[in-house]
Amino acid sequence: MKLFLLTWFFSLLYKIASKPVLDQCEQIKKYTHVLFVTAHADDIETIAGGTASLFVKCGSIVNYVITTNGDKGWSKDYTMTSEELATIRESEALSAAAVIGVTNVTFLRQEDGRLEGVDPIELKKNITIAVRLFQPDLVISFSPELDYATYAFGLMHSDHQRTGLTTLNTLWPAARDYLSFTDLYEDGIMPWIHQRCGSLLLRLQTTFQCHR
Ligand SMILES: [Zn+2]
Repeated sequence: MKLFLLTWFFSLLYKIASKPVLDQCEQIKKYTHVLFVTAHADDIETIAGGTASLFVKCGSIVNYVITTNGDKGWSKDYTMTSEELATIRESEALSAAAVIGVTNVTFLRQEDGRLEGVDPIELKKNITIAVRLFQPDLVISFSPELDYATYAFGLMHSDHQRTGLTTLNTLWPAARDYLSFTDLYEDGIMPWIHQRCGSLLLRLQTTFQCHR
């Protein structure tokens, strides 16, 4: 009898604890392939890690594209080099992705803080490759709009704006237009678009702490 009551109690606890996730899954399960396009290795974990985790928990296949190598932004001492930091950031990104359950991370490895100096067509082409190959139902990236309020939270960055704007321009029309990059078409990377494909900025906090 005791064992029965204990089993019943824990099954009740499980039902209560899992209900919110299941409810959310009902709403988002239509997104089977979710692509995050961010600028820095820690962007997803600090801004939308909980969202990425939720998609994975609900069964979505989640991929990341990170446009810079993260070789700036170290304030603890003056001994770190950009090369060392880029290596650390890439490793941290993979560790954090693994915690969430994301196994595919594409690094475009542009210099941190100087994305505005990168050839815009080349950047768009690289994101186009990721979109065409992965074929996402949902793309999540930064808003390209200038938002002063987000400065207080360290979310406003020129790399964020550039990544968000280029991602939008990739989704329409570069990803679906074979004439945009005929060499990709000739290499078998076929044009692709999904009618639900869009872009939005999510500002959810995460508990994942894989970044120094
Ligand atoms: Zn960032």
